[in-house]
Amino acid sequence: MAAGNRLMGEDLLPLVELASPEELAPLFTAADQVRRRMVGDAVHLRALIEFSNYCRANCLYCGLRRENRNLARYRLSLEEIEGLIAEAYRLGFGTVVLQSGEDLWYDADRMARLIRYAKSLGLAVTLSLGERSPEEVAYWRKEGADRYLLRHETANPALHRRLRPGRSLEGRVGLLRYLKELGYQIGAGFMVGLPGQEAADLVADLELLVELEADMVGIGPFIPHPDTPLAGAPGGRVLETVKMVALARLLLPEALIPATTALGSLDPYGRENALEAGANVVMPSLTPKAVRRQYALYPGRICLDETGEQCRACLEARLRRLGRTVATGPGHSLKWERRNRNG
Ligand code: SF4
Repeated sequence: MAAGNRLMGEDLLPLVELASPEELAPLFTAADQVRRRMVGDAVHLRALIEFSNYCRANCLYCGLRRENRNLARYRLSLEEIEGLIAEAYRLGFGTVVLQSGEDLWYDADRMARLIRYAKSLGLAVTLSLGERSPEEVAYWRKEGADRYLLRHETANPALHRRLRPGRSLEGRVGLLRYLKELGYQIGAGFMVGLPGQEAADLVADLELLVELEADMVGIGPFIPHPDTPLAGAPGGRVLETVKMVALARLLLPEALIPATTALGSLDPYGRENALEAGANVVMPSLTPKAVRRQYALYPGRICLDETGEQCRACLEARLRRLGRTVATGPGHSLKWERRNRNG
């Protein structure tokens, strides 16, 4: 390990290549200790509202891709979304995550209305709307949006181009940098187990997170969707994914790192595994049950039949069993709070 306890590029490859549970156990313990020391035992609960599954993009790995004609599409009205935001407030959440495919029906003004409504209730607002225009994201920041999730997906430029037709890593990273300039807390992240992904690519993913100084880091396994061109590809594994969560924690000790639903979908204890290896965020879904099944980024998603209230209660119980507590308040990025204080 490099001097100053800071992992550097050349140290990362052997760690990324660790494979057996025995080899990985000390890494998970180290990440858990860093998590406890740097961000404590409290876990942030974010209310996830997936309000539209329309998407103009065509990512090869994603069930929402525009060429998937087997998916019934839905769009929630602004009034419905406001109702869900109000429910998040009533259930005691500090943050709403407004997520959709890249759906331009929700234009600058419609999104601004939702942001203003959430802010009027004192909620922090995370946007996860894909690659929207610089003008739009600047406007939403002015209207009070706090955070923007935009996973980079893979830091291998050739793989990125192949998996995301018409898009580029450069464009995505450029937007992440701009979001940061605007004062957003930014979330990057990637998938583990993509077809053609190598250990060196995962090292590049981690290095990019560090370079961007990501406030939030979303890491999930690739799960092949039957209605996509990658239907027959092997998927990512839980252990591999948790390993990357642990490394992300060691590299970005203060980051907000979710235990992703995709991990919980592959393994009933997938989220717990991540929470014990560095994660400190979970995102229960408040998406209406009637459409939740249709927000099919990947198949086999869990928690399809629970209400938002049941989801929250279930996750709270799971956290208690791990000896963790539920955080209160907006749960901002500590790094971002420091950036703001220092002007
Ligand atoms: S990954 Fe995102 S941008 Fe790509 S098709 Fe799916 S929802 Fe659209």
